Amino acid sequence: MATKKAVAQKASELVQPAAHGYEFGGPIGATLISIGLPIGCYAFAFLCNDVSGCPAPALLDPIRLFTPPLLSTQSGWQHALSTLKTQAGWPGVTGLLSTEAVLGTAAWYGLSLLLYVLLPAREVEGVQLRTGGRLQYRFNSFTSALLILVTCAAGSWARGSDFPVWTFINRNYVQLLTCNILISYLLATYVYLRSFSVKPGNRDQRELAAGGHSGNIIYDWFIGRELNPRIAIPFLNNTTVDIKSFMELRPGLLGWVMLNLSFMARQHHSYGYVTDAMYMVTVSQAIYVLDAFYMEPAILTTIDITTDGFGFMLAFGDLAWVPFIYSLQARYLSVHPIILGPTKVAMILSVQLFGYWIFRASNNEKNRFRTNPDDPALAHLKYIQTQSGSRLLTSGWWGKARHINYLGDWIMSWAYCLPTLLAGYRLTPSILYPGTRLVTTDGMVGAAVPVTYFYLLYFAVLLVHREMRDEEKCRRKYGKDWDEYCKKVPYKILPGVY
Ligand code: NDP
Repeated sequence: MATKKAVAQKASELVQPAAHGYEFGGPIGATLISIGLPIGCYAFAFLCNDVSGCPAPALLDPIRLFTPPLLSTQSGWQHALSTLKTQAGWPGVTGLLSTEAVLGTAAWYGLSLLLYVLLPAREVEGVQLRTGGRLQYRFNSFTSALLILVTCAAGSWARGSDFPVWTFINRNYVQLLTCNILISYLLATYVYLRSFSVKPGNRDQRELAAGGHSGNIIYDWFIGRELNPRIAIPFLNNTTVDIKSFMELRPGLLGWVMLNLSFMARQHHSYGYVTDAMYMVTVSQAIYVLDAFYMEPAILTTIDITTDGFGFMLAFGDLAWVPFIYSLQARYLSVHPIILGPTKVAMILSVQLFGYWIFRASNNEKNRFRTNPDDPALAHLKYIQTQSGSRLLTSGWWGKARHINYLGDWIMSWAYCLPTLLAGYRLTPSILYPGTRLVTTDGMVGAAVPVTYFYLLYFAVLLVHREMRDEEKCRRKYGKDWDEYCKKVPYKILPGVY
C-alpha cells in the first residue's frame, strides 16, 4: 500500500514538479507587463507615425503640449491628449480593429497551419522530459517560409509595390497589431484552462512547467502553466500541433519578415526606389529569421522549449512583440528613406557578420553537444561531467563566457538599428505641390533614436534578464557542479567584462 502511494506521489511530482519562486516581479509584475506591453506596442505605432512625424513633433515641446490655448476650457492633460490624437492619426477605439484585418489574420494563421500539416517535414525527437519520454516534433518552417516568400516575390515582380499583400499590411497595420494582441490573450487563456486536465501518469507525456503552477491565477496564466501544450487538428488528419514551438517559429517570426517587406514596398511606392539602409535592415533580419527556420531543431534545447511553460508571456512575445516591435526600423525607413553609401554599409555589415559568427557557431556547438555528447567533431572540447548526468562544456565557445551566444545576438542587434542613423523626421504639407507632404529632419535629428534603437536596449535587458533566469535554473539543476563551472568560466556574457 505504502509503495503504491509512493509511486503515485512520484508520478505526481514528475508531471507537477515542486514549484519555485516568482519571476518577473510575481503577480504584480505579470499584471503590469500584460497590460503595459500591449499599450507600449500601440505607443510606438501611433507616436512614430506617417501623419505628423517620428516622434509626433508635439512630444518635443512638453510645456506647450500641456498648455491649452488661452480661451480653451481644456485641462493640460486634455489638451495634450487631443493634440497627440491629431498628430498620431488616432482612429478611435473602434478603429483599432477591422473586419478586413480579422479575416487577414485568420488567413495568415490558417495558411501557417496548413503548410505545417501538408508540406513534407522532418520528425525530430525533443530533449528528454522529466517523465522520461521524449516528444516528437514536426519541423518544416523553412520550406513553409520559402514557399510564402517565393510567392510574394513572384507577386511583387508582377505587381511591384502594389502587390495586394503589401498594400493590405500597410493599410491594416494597427488593426493587425490588435488582432495579434487579442490572439495572445485568448491563446494564453485557452492553454491555462486546458492545463488543469494534466494528470499524473497521463499517456500523452503532458507535464506542468516547474515555474508555472504557483497557484496564483494571474501569474500562472502569464508565465505558462503547462510545459508543452499540444492539440490534434481533427480536420487535418489529426496532426498534432505543439502550440509553443508552432507559435515561436511560425506566425510571428515570419510575420516580422512580412512586415519588413511590406515597409520596403511602401518605401518603393512613395519614393520609387528602395534605399541601401532599407535593404540592410530587411535582408539581415530576414537572414536571422530564415536561419532560425533552417536550424529549427536547435529550438529544442532553448529555455523556451525545455523549461518555460506556454502562457501570455510567450504568446504575446511571439505573436505581437516580435513582429511589431522588431520591425520598427523598417517601418521608420519606409517613411524616411536613408541612403548610407558603401562605407557605412560595409561597416554595418561587418558588425552583422561578426555577431552572426559568434551567435551561430556557439549555438551550433552546444546544440550538437546536447544532441550527441560523443560527437567525434567535438572530441577536442573539455567538459565537466555533472551528477545530473548531463555534461557542461568548459572550453570552446562555452569556455569563453557562460552565455557567449547572447553576445553574438546582441552585436547583431546593433546592425539592425545603425542603418537608421540619427533618426527623426517631421511631415509638413508641401506648399509647392498641394496634396503632398514633405518629409524633413528639421529640428528632429536624433529625436526618434529611442524608437529605432529601442530594440538594442530592450534586447540587452532581455538577454541579461534571461541570463539571470537561466543561471538560477542551472544552479537548481546542477548544484555544486554549476559552481565548479562558474569557477572555470567566470564571465556571464562578455568575456573579461561581465
Ligand atoms: P541557451 O541556448 O543559451 O541555452 C541555455 C541552456 O544551455 C542552459 O539552460 C543549459 O541547459 C545549457 N547549457 C548552459 N551552459 C552549458 C554548457 N557549458 N555546456 C552545455 N550546455 C550548457 O538559451 P536560450 O534559449 O536563452 O537562447 C537560445 C538562442 O536564442 C540564443 O542565441 C539567444 O540569443 C536567442 N534568443 C533570441 C531571442 C530574440 O528575441 N531574438 C529571444 C531569446 C533568445 P541544460 O544543461 O539543461 O541542457
